[in-house]
Amino acid sequence: MKLENKTAIVTGGSRGIGRAICLALAKEGANVVTCYTKGAEAAEETVSMCREYGVQSLAVQADVSVGKDVEVLFEEALKVTGTVEILVNNAGITRDGLVMRMSDEDFNAVIDTNLKGAFYCMRAASKLMMKKRYGRIVTISSVVGVTGNAGQINYAASKAGVIGMTKSMAKELGSRNVTVNAVAPGFITTDMTDALSAQVKEQLAKEIPLSRLGQPDDVANAVAFLVSDEASYITGQVLHVDGGMVM
Ligand code: NDP
Repeated sequence: MKLENKTAIVTGGSRGIGRAICLALAKEGANVVTCYTKGAEAAEETVSMCREYGVQSLAVQADVSVGKDVEVLFEEALKVTGTVEILVNNAGITRDGLVMRMSDEDFNAVIDTNLKGAFYCMRAASKLMMKKRYGRIVTISSVVGVTGNAGQINYAASKAGVIGMTKSMAKELGSRNVTVNAVAPGFITTDMTDALSAQVKEQLAKEIPLSRLGQPDDVANAVAFLVSDEASYITGQVLHVDGGMVM
């Protein structure tokens, strides 16, 4: 049990990659606090699954793009053990469209959730972790934050942005024994990628050296490593979990 007695906040844990991360951390003994916007029932399912590992777990309805909601999320998390050692910024959305037709609303919604949401959580976590002189922060970026992608100017900007935030925070907090890293998944089978047709998925798989789309556990395993003591000398890095798409 590598994370026993530690408390982790994992945003967006009601399904997909977030749920897999919650379970991977709970399996290692961490208490898990997650949040969601709409999927209360699914989030409670994640919580029940975490508790099966004998840890404390709870789900809070909190929209990470709203500063006040993030304050509530941290207040609730602090009730578990009085501190938070691990933060995983996972909550994210897409609102795809070509640049010439993209509305302000779609651009802002993605930036507000994916970039500002991560900032609100990192700011709140940094205060606790600096005081404790220990912390692990991992933010889920994306392959398109590195390569760009037609039709995803908002999403790519947000995912490139979290890489810049990760490196800046790693420099700010390194002397306090807080590591800050990003994981950049490629195409992972979740609700987010379900919208792609079978034909597109087949075409994508052909372009991936490992010849398949990834699974949520592929990402969760990387996160579990980065928050463990084995990764204590790794900070400011982007770990690509993409079957070799970016080389
Ligand atoms: P899903 O759409 O399957 O799940 C998203 C999760 O985030 C849900 O639990 C959702 O909760 C929650 N969420 C969304 N918006 C908010 C918000 N404003 N505040 C709090 N929670 C929120 O996504 P994935 O599991 O596929 O993706 C997880 C992360 O991984 C995202 O950051 C995504 O950008 C990134 N990623 C995914 C890839 C993929 O191929 N799937 C590839 C690269 C990166 P609710 O249901 O309540 O809305």
